[in-house]
Amino acid sequence: MRPPFGLAFFTLLLVSLMHTQALLALQFQRYHSQEEIATYLRDLAQRYPDLARFEVIGRSQQGRDIGLLTLTKSKQLDTPAIYLNATHHGNEKASTEALLAFVHHMSERQSDPNISRLLGRYRFLIQPLVNPDGHALNTRGDANGVDPNRDYAGPQKPEKDAFQLPETRVVRELLRKENIVASAAFHSGLEAILWPWCHTPESSQHDAVFRGIGELVARSMGVQRAKQSFYDYKTEGEFIDYAYMKYGIYALTLEVATEASPPPEQLTATVQRSIVGTMTFLNSIDKALERRDTTATGSGTEAQAVLW
Ligand SMILES: [Zn+2]
Repeated sequence: MRPPFGLAFFTLLLVSLMHTQALLALQFQRYHSQEEIATYLRDLAQRYPDLARFEVIGRSQQGRDIGLLTLTKSKQLDTPAIYLNATHHGNEKASTEALLAFVHHMSERQSDPNISRLLGRYRFLIQPLVNPDGHALNTRGDANGVDPNRDYAGPQKPEKDAFQLPETRVVRELLRKENIVASAAFHSGLEAILWPWCHTPESSQHDAVFRGIGELVARSMGVQRAKQSFYDYKTEGEFIDYAYMKYGIYALTLEVATEASPPPEQLTATVQRSIVGTMTFLNSIDKALERRDTTATGSGTEAQAVLW
């Protein structure tokens, strides 16, 4: 006997709903493949066209897609952007998962008053994989063992000697064309919140603001280490130095786990803590920008001389 039409329809609906749920409700009990990540981000953009847009903004040396998700409720293209990236270092897979968990958090709670306000004020540019070849090969560097996070320009490294890798050129182009006001680069392998400068012990012009935000984020995550990156160890050619030096972008490094890729059973707790830190970062950046804008209204010329 044929099942009644109603039952068949209901079964079909249920199966299709379960399929959608499986794609859109990410679980963090294991690491996700690049294919799963791209599928999740594309499906998200399809399901919430007024919130999310997914695009491929470049290719890695081995031909892997480099994807970018934009989350915003603002219709204006000049809305200030906050750029979050992960996995400059390919084996630091917890950093990619942390960023995916943040996307999941924002999209699931888009009507929460604070999240809705942030989505109205900013465009969130989210790049879960700066170095997809390293992620696929489970190596720190790129396909040839070169560290992308030493490939940016800096005082000791002019632009012509920097950006040897297509992966960092993709980031450079994004910084050039978008109105980015703040950024967090996610890493894993230690627990720390770090800020510019990386290349010199001298403190930056905005050290007090960096320190204020960095310490708040660290406290929210229960992380002990919050310092200028140089005092963690000295590096040349890092993303956060370049973003801050070249564009005055408020760029910090969030190191979200003691291991580059902790065991899967620790992943849920790792990403939950990272979400708390990321929300603290966004709320405190938002306050810092509000202070800057208030100062800007007060005195025009001074505001131009001082970024924050
Ligand atoms: Zn790293």
